[in-house]
Amino acid sequence: MLSLPPLALLAALLFVATLIPACLAWRAGRRNLREGLRQRVEAKESGSFQPRLEHPWIDISRCIGCASCMRACPEEGVLDILHGQAAVVHGSRCIGHGECAAHCPVGAIALTMADRKSRNDLPALLPSMQAHGVPGLYLAGEVTGYALIRTAVDHGRRCANAAWERKQKVGANAGLDLCIVGAGPGGLACALEAKRLGLDFVVLEQDRIGGTIARYPRSKLLNTHPLELPLGGRLEGRAYHKEELMKVWMDLCTKHQLPIQEGEILQSVHPNADGKFSIQTQNQSIQAQSVCLAIGRRGIPNKLNVVGEELMKVNYSLIDARAFKHGKFLIVGGGDSAVEAALGLAEQPGNQVHISYRRAEFFRLRSRSFLRIQEAIRDGKVKVHWQSNVHRIEQDRVLLKREDPALPLLGIPNDEVFVLIGGLPPLPLLQEAGVSFDPNLQPKQELIEKGSGLVLPLAFAAASAGTLLLWGWWHSEYYQAEPLQQIVDPRHSWLRSASGLGLVAGILASIMILTNLTYLLRRNRRLPLEWGSLNRWMSLHIATGLMAFAFAILHSSFSFSNHLGGHTLLGIMVLVSTGGLGRYFYSFVPRAANGREQALESAQLQLMEDTKAWGEVHRDFGEEARRQMAALIDRTRWKSGVLGSILGLVRAQLDLRKTMQELIQVGRSMKLDAPTLNQVLKVARKAHRDALIASHFESLRTLLASWRFFHRWVGLLVVLLLIAHVVVSLNYADLGASG
Ligand SMILES: Cc1cc2nc3c(=O)[nH]c(=O)nc-3n(C[C@H](O)[C@H](O)[C@H](O)COP(=O)(O)OP(=O)(O)OC[C@H]3O[C@@H](n4cnc5c(N)ncnc54)[C@H](O)[C@@H]3O)c2cc1C
Repeated sequence: MLSLPPLALLAALLFVATLIPACLAWRAGRRNLREGLRQRVEAKESGSFQPRLEHPWIDISRCIGCASCMRACPEEGVLDILHGQAAVVHGSRCIGHGECAAHCPVGAIALTMADRKSRNDLPALLPSMQAHGVPGLYLAGEVTGYALIRTAVDHGRRCANAAWERKQKVGANAGLDLCIVGAGPGGLACALEAKRLGLDFVVLEQDRIGGTIARYPRSKLLNTHPLELPLGGRLEGRAYHKEELMKVWMDLCTKHQLPIQEGEILQSVHPNADGKFSIQTQNQSIQAQSVCLAIGRRGIPNKLNVVGEELMKVNYSLIDARAFKHGKFLIVGGGDSAVEAALGLAEQPGNQVHISYRRAEFFRLRSRSFLRIQEAIRDGKVKVHWQSNVHRIEQDRVLLKREDPALPLLGIPNDEVFVLIGGLPPLPLLQEAGVSFDPNLQPKQELIEKGSGLVLPLAFAAASAGTLLLWGWWHSEYYQAEPLQQIVDPRHSWLRSASGLGLVAGILASIMILTNLTYLLRRNRRLPLEWGSLNRWMSLHIATGLMAFAFAILHSSFSFSNHLGGHTLLGIMVLVSTGGLGRYFYSFVPRAANGREQALESAQLQLMEDTKAWGEVHRDFGEEARRQMAALIDRTRWKSGVLGSILGLVRAQLDLRKTMQELIQVGRSMKLDAPTLNQVLKVARKAHRDALIASHFESLRTLLASWRFFHRWVGLLVVLLLIAHVVVSLNYADLGASG
């Protein structure tokens, strides 16, 4: 017979197994939080905190801090876990992949727009991609402000469908059904979908097929998402070299004989009185019922307008860095194109690569470019001249002027210059066509916190508990009877665990546990199991957990006996409780910590603002107060160990009193008037109090965060107990039947 470990020993083992990782997590959590907060302050200072367009919005009433979003994001540093919940750090690095939202198991992330009201370079569009107030004129891809291949493809498809619907409504006319301008990803997807729908269309392209992709440096690696191309099937990969993607496009163009006219520059689009459009290029004029403008945002390359720019060595794009070896190069600019060009050139033998950038740091780079350029700078492969502007270009050198006018001009020996400072977006052309850029026409987006969503599972749990109680009450005579009496009860054969309903309940409980575990498979990003949203899987995880518990109670005949089955039931109970705590209650504490953190930030800001507004003597005192409070808050908050944190909190009041007395003395020695002194002390005290409360919340949050460890370990234990219980039950079925 198998000897069963006593319950107390199991509990002690579990406690130790949980305590050690929880303590380690406490330390690591504190370190990460400190680092994360520091990075956010830096991001705010450099401007990279501010999102450009699409970016994640986190519902902190729901976020459970599991970091799935962070791990799923292909860009580095957009999200971090601060105070136990996800938070945006480098918002400007977000380019709208949307992976964070797709991988959030509790639906706490929505993609939202940066404040579009503050931008007057974004076209006002209807959800069908039609320009506001211009029926039949559609925009696709980057011209709408979204910078992803996947989005451009999606837009293109939607535009073709809208044109098809328009044709159904208005009826066929003389002229084309659709004129597509631009043969980048947006225009090509539109053309393929138009072909699929049987529309009569043409594609006008000023340059050549491929759009921006065709102009990427050779072998550039592109991050993308699995893509559904009209008539092209699904591209499953997440990363492609430029050449691979270009081949896919070119093959599709040939296979479907898309009517693409290269070298045709769109000059104007005019809506006519009859609802059609007149499209004018340098060579021809076309009539079409609908127009799709997929012309990107690069427009005409920006120029430096300096002496020497007309020299042959000045370029505005770099396609193949391999053509440039053993040379001296200057790249002007600090965006993705400039950095990628610099990296491409730096990889070639014998090249000396310099960048001239007007800012003090890179701040809006895709994370991959950011990390690579940092490495290249560290390795001395690229030299950046921060806060510099080109003053003059000469045959064998370039002269840079620095931000500080006192510094002399800097001469950089040079063979080729690449000016990659963006382009003039084609806004006038769009405006002439009737596209509005009125920020007031931009769609409003209301984001509301959804709360933890406790009501539904609570109702579900209450209904299950109610049903179980009713059942137990109905057969209470059997369930409450002594074991020997139960055996002689006629209901024994179908209520006991080993047969009839009792056995079915046990089997169902096991099935529920196994189904429950499939959530872990779905969550694992290394496995290619991407069916269904993670949020739905989480709901299934919760529902099967609750049902497993209910069936296990029924299977156990409502008794917690000290054997394997009883331990399994207890394990399931702890599993359900820790899961519920993490999913539904955990978010309250970090949320409160976040709120308090904001209060602390505003108290510190107020102290800073007050200080700025005062005269010189008062200002010195304000600065001194701020410095002392910052040091005090730092001492109080950032204790790494558990014991250190507790002692730190105990000493906080003593420290505060001492600091206040010192400040009063300094204030008096500066002959400060009483109202000013009191004002500073009041705000300083408030800042300290907020810091303390934030710190308390932080400790509580860290404690609560241990639910995850309990949940995982108990989960593992339940599976092991379940296996043992099933094996033992099968082996000793005869004994069970007789007992
Ligand atoms: C350096 C860099 C790296 C990038 N990396 C990635 C990445 O890894 N993953 C990703 O998803 N996205 C990436 N992007 C963004 C992606 O390339 C764009 O979002 C995508 O190409 C937009 O497609 P589009 O069709 O809207 O515009 P474009 O690709 O810009 O195509 C517009 C086309 O319109 C033509 N055109 C413009 N004006 C006229 C006119 N007047 N008449 C006729 N034709 C005209 C142009 O010649 C061009 O061919 C990157 C962009 C850059 C610059």
